[in-house]
Amino acid sequence: MNADLERLIELEKVDREAARLIEEVAGLPKRVAAIEAKLAEHKAAVEKAKAQIKSNESSRRQLEADIKGFQEKIVKYKSQSSSVKTNDEYRALMHEVEFAEKQISGCEDKILELMLALESEEKALKVAEAELKTETGDVEKEKAEARVRTAEDEKLLAGLKEKRAGLRSGVNDTALAHYDRVMRQRKSAIAEAREQKCMACFVMVRPQTWQEIRGNEQIVTCNSCGRILYFDPAHEVVPEPAPAKRKTKARAEVEVEGEPESTPETTPTQ
Ligand SMILES: [Zn+2]
Repeated sequence: MNADLERLIELEKVDREAARLIEEVAGLPKRVAAIEAKLAEHKAAVEKAKAQIKSNESSRRQLEADIKGFQEKIVKYKSQSSSVKTNDEYRALMHEVEFAEKQISGCEDKILELMLALESEEKALKVAEAELKTETGDVEKEKAEARVRTAEDEKLLAGLKEKRAGLRSGVNDTALAHYDRVMRQRKSAIAEAREQKCMACFVMVRPQTWQEIRGNEQIVTCNSCGRILYFDPAHEVVPEPAPAKRKTKARAEVEVEGEPESTPETTPTQ
């Protein structure tokens, strides 16, 4: 194989791997940011659960204060009842007492509801706290992994950079300039040619060009996409002789040379 072609094929592998590593390194902080955002969500969930418990407690305190207020009123009404002059006044006071008692009973119901709610609110807080703890551990682990991976990738990149410089210095300038141009435009600059087609853009190459590519002895570019083409003999397609028609060996060979399939054939053997 042409030495430049061989180096360019290798160079493309190096360039692609380097691009992959650069992308990976760039993606790692984004990944860490995403887990940190998730962590913040868990923190918010814990805060919300705590706030709910706090509000439950203050509501209960308020209701207890209300009950105390109504109880004081009842005491007051009852003491007033001993000094009233008329039955109407007395009935009015008893009505007030009854109303206050109803209020107390309503407050007690609400306190009971709040206490039941508190149980599930405390459970929710425990769950949120446990999740936060797990998530915090995961974040630290992920961050450490990202740091290790970044360091590894950067080391690999340094090695590739060196290899790249070595390969580039061995390729002639025109071929290298072409390679760089196509690489910039298409993110890949080399393509295999198979069955007379560029395997990157699938456009057919001319028979003359195909023969040049098959030789692998010169830099041949795809007329359509500009990629540098090479031939891999392992992918050569050997046309199979048509098994339906019985032919002599001689005739079969002639057909492979390009005789059309539709040729009328009546006498298979001479
Ligand atoms: Zn092409």
